[in-house]
Amino acid sequence: MPELPEVEISARLLDRVLAGSVVESALAPGVNALKSYDPPLSALEGHSISGVQRRGKLFVISFEGGLSMVVHLMSAGRLQLFDSRASLRDRSSRVLLRLQDGRELRLREFGTKQRAWAKVVPTDAVDSEETIASLGPEAWPEPPPDFAQLLDAPRPLHGLLRDQHVIAGIGRSWVDEILHAAMLSPFKRGADLEGDEAERLSEATVRVLGDTIAHYEQVIALPIPDKLPMPLSVHRRNGEPCPRCGDQLEAVFYEDYVMCYCPTCQTEGRLLKDRRLSRLLK
Ligand SMILES: [Zn+2]
Repeated sequence: MPELPEVEISARLLDRVLAGSVVESALAPGVNALKSYDPPLSALEGHSISGVQRRGKLFVISFEGGLSMVVHLMSAGRLQLFDSRASLRDRSSRVLLRLQDGRELRLREFGTKQRAWAKVVPTDAVDSEETIASLGPEAWPEPPPDFAQLLDAPRPLHGLLRDQHVIAGIGRSWVDEILHAAMLSPFKRGADLEGDEAERLSEATVRVLGDTIAHYEQVIALPIPDKLPMPLSVHRRNGEPCPRCGDQLEAVFYEDYVMCYCPTCQTEGRLLKDRRLSRLLK
């Protein structure tokens, strides 16, 4: 589940080794993965890569000649660099950029769903690309200056912080870690945050994401592994002791994800309802 830290480290590593590499050919074996047709994917051929950056949870690969490629991994995509070309039988391939030096930059996706996507856009139109234009301020490296105002909505923090239109980069894994670090309930409403709580949350957001990226700088190298070693201490650790107070971490299960928290540190000891159970009882 790639979020801001995972995309940031991938973009950094790719940027360091890709600048100057020339695209020999570009292919999109993934049905529907390419979400643009003008300019065509083939317009990248013959151009060199000038950089790889991150915006929220997206990549922006820029090319000499005025074109860029926006890439969204969604929940199961990976952007990986290989020394040789993919077998045409590799069913995880979505978009392939074959480089003149023999390497291949590959947008891959695991699982059966095809949701990861790429778009070729003029570089001067990257900011107005639909998804990028709708992003809220970046969650890292600087905290949004008006954090309390940003979250001033009658919605639970767990959803608010993951809303890319509100703040960009946080998803289901890191939201649990951030709320635990800030000692706030996932169900507390943004509008109910006290000044010092908003301050704590802002500080925890930047620290958790920044520490994770610093950790990745130490442990991740190219080629970027299929599964990144995410240093999670709360998310998916339900049943284990809280790293702060030692009490048992609890979870609320949703249809396709799980929210984890420490009752002692975050909810004044209250156990949150298991959503699966309440749905069954309806
Ligand atoms: Zn705790």
